[in-house]
Amino acid sequence: MTQTMNQPLLATASLTLAAAFALGFAAQRPDSGGVQAGLGYVSSAQDAPDVDGVDVVLDSAHSRFAGVKDGANADYIPVLAEVDSELFAIALVTVDGEVHVVGDGEARFSIQSISKVFSMAQVLSQLGPDALLEGIGVDATGRPFNSIIAIEEFQGREMNPLVNAGAITTTGMIPGADADAIFASILANLSGYAGRELDVDLAVCASELASNQRNQAIGALMHAYGLIDDHYERAVEVYTRQCSVSVDTKDLAVMAGTLANGGKNPVTKRQVLDPELVPRVLAVMATAGLYDDSGKWLFSSGLPAKSGVGGGIIAVSPGRFGIAAFSPRLDAAGNSVRAQLAIRAVSDALDGNPYHVTPR
Ligand code: GLU
Repeated sequence: MTQTMNQPLLATASLTLAAAFALGFAAQRPDSGGVQAGLGYVSSAQDAPDVDGVDVVLDSAHSRFAGVKDGANADYIPVLAEVDSELFAIALVTVDGEVHVVGDGEARFSIQSISKVFSMAQVLSQLGPDALLEGIGVDATGRPFNSIIAIEEFQGREMNPLVNAGAITTTGMIPGADADAIFASILANLSGYAGRELDVDLAVCASELASNQRNQAIGALMHAYGLIDDHYERAVEVYTRQCSVSVDTKDLAVMAGTLANGGKNPVTKRQVLDPELVPRVLAVMATAGLYDDSGKWLFSSGLPAKSGVGGGIIAVSPGRFGIAAFSPRLDAAGNSVRAQLAIRAVSDALDGNPYHVTPR
């Protein structure tokens, strides 16, 4: 990671402490029930967080990090360079279906790689865990998300569904008669998690289809190694459409909240993924969700997460809440600078790290 991230990381640490003390969020987790804190009742870590506290924490994180200007929009997909870099939104959805949004909540942007999580879940549902393990893999590559070297190293194996080679293979595995039918089932799946009918941003899709030569090469290489069938060009096209699906930050938080709630959309109450499969999805997010900074992210937050080059990030506090943030400026690894800061600060203030346990 470059120096640009060092300052914000320090800022996060101080916000966390400030939030814990100034806002009255107890640093310790009660063994049962909740604790009485400055702003009222704060629930135990096993519960959905209390409503008033969440709004205060979101507002605080938004105003704290709105001034961070580090990073730059992705520009290898030309249209992404034109997105207003100042946009910034944070949304949190509890497992009880409470929705909280702060900032530019109405702004729409392309889901990009965050879609990979839900197509992975679709393959798990339709074809089973073994198909994922054998057909793609679940190991971190330790390489950039669109690495060709990572493919060459193990002849297309030892991948995961959250890097491009694995994600294009994922779309290649989803059953369907033609590109439109496969994409329709991917879109319906994404929409189930979001709780509304999503659609493609046609401008993003056109820009990406015109500049995705690297992904075409990845698809061809995965075909050459026998991991994608003859329809590898179709797989790349469907994958590109999937990345161009338009969402807002609340949509992403509902999608993350669905994973936090055992695969049941907490807003629509529809079960969209078998609860038994949710831990598999979260495991891959924890392993490879933030590109080659996934280890650093997990170390500092403990949250399974996924970022996209459109500037969105989702993260999951299992059994408690899903959170999403959006801001287009990315760091050197390709992760939104403000979104990382905001999610970590909010989660820390709400004691969202699932690995944090008070000894008994
Ligand atoms: N559509 C983008 C690509 O394939 C997604 C990248 C990302 O969000 O990580 O390059």
